[in-house]
Amino acid sequence: MEARKPGEEILRVEDLVVHYKIRAGWVRAVEGAKFSLNRGDTMGLVGESGCGKTTTGYSIAQLLPDNAYIKGGKIHFLGEEILSKTLLPDGRVDKFNEYMRKLRWKRISYIFQGAMNALNPVLKVGDQIVEAILAHEKVDEETARERVKELYKLVGIPPDRIDNYPHEYSGGMKQRAMIAMALALNPDLIIADEPTTALDVIVQDKILGEMTRLQRELGMTMIIITHDISIVAEIANKMSVMYAGQIVERGTTRHIFKRFAHPYTKGLLGSFPSIVGEKRRLEAIPGSPPNLLNPPSGCRFHPRCPYAQEICRTEEPPEVEVEPGHFVKCHFAEKFFKEWHGG
Ligand code: SF4
Repeated sequence: MEARKPGEEILRVEDLVVHYKIRAGWVRAVEGAKFSLNRGDTMGLVGESGCGKTTTGYSIAQLLPDNAYIKGGKIHFLGEEILSKTLLPDGRVDKFNEYMRKLRWKRISYIFQGAMNALNPVLKVGDQIVEAILAHEKVDEETARERVKELYKLVGIPPDRIDNYPHEYSGGMKQRAMIAMALALNPDLIIADEPTTALDVIVQDKILGEMTRLQRELGMTMIIITHDISIVAEIANKMSVMYAGQIVERGTTRHIFKRFAHPYTKGLLGSFPSIVGEKRRLEAIPGSPPNLLNPPSGCRFHPRCPYAQEICRTEEPPEVEVEPGHFVKCHFAEKFFKEWHGG
């Protein structure tokens, strides 16, 4: 395997557009998403449900359903543009594409929402991970089993549990096993979609702590898809905030938590107590996300934005760099940046 250079660019998504065809028309699920990750980065992709986070993750791993069409954009993974190699002429994902089949698991692994329920109930958990290794690497079974034991130690499961069946594991252990499976082939990128939402808060905390430790120890590159901004604060060094199919703010987690400049991010952080201080009441963002069959004109957030002006209803805002590496998609980004943070 080629040497892995710390800090090298792993992933660059440029102007990604994904629409779903349904009977009522086209759902504009992702419109113009862009971000990049270097080796060792963990990026939180955060937003309300239905905002396009999972569609973005599925586009990178090319796991989109048949009615999804990638209408535009580029995805560079390890220096190669993958969409031009893998999509069907109409923009749908080619499920049998050989190039992508090799990338998936080996280079990109995906921890699905509720992944712990994806374990096959009639096979021993360890055997399922061994099989995944044998399917992608030329190693013998004994070597694969040894690797699984090492992975179990890494994710905090006693190695002698590899011969148990899924029903003998707790929810937290199953989720740890899924993380071990995701790590098994030492991928360059892990996409974890709401990795802990099905677990109770204490187990959730433990698993997140474990993932943060693994991330640091192994220098993993990860995208965490979540609606929970506190998870991003805990684990991610970068973040992208999505609203109604668009990335409205992106940059380092530190910059965005301290110097957010998009009204939607302000609202999200307003519902996160430690950012705004003890005394302030938590604010929910009024209204609900728009129907992406017919998204609002101009800025998609304008029907809910307390700062909306006439221009917001008619013109789509540009993405503005308010400080190096910190981008905000709002007509008044620079003004808010100065007003809110005295910049
Ligand atoms: S562009 Fe206008 S509506 Fe959109 S977030 Fe900025 S101020 Fe609000």
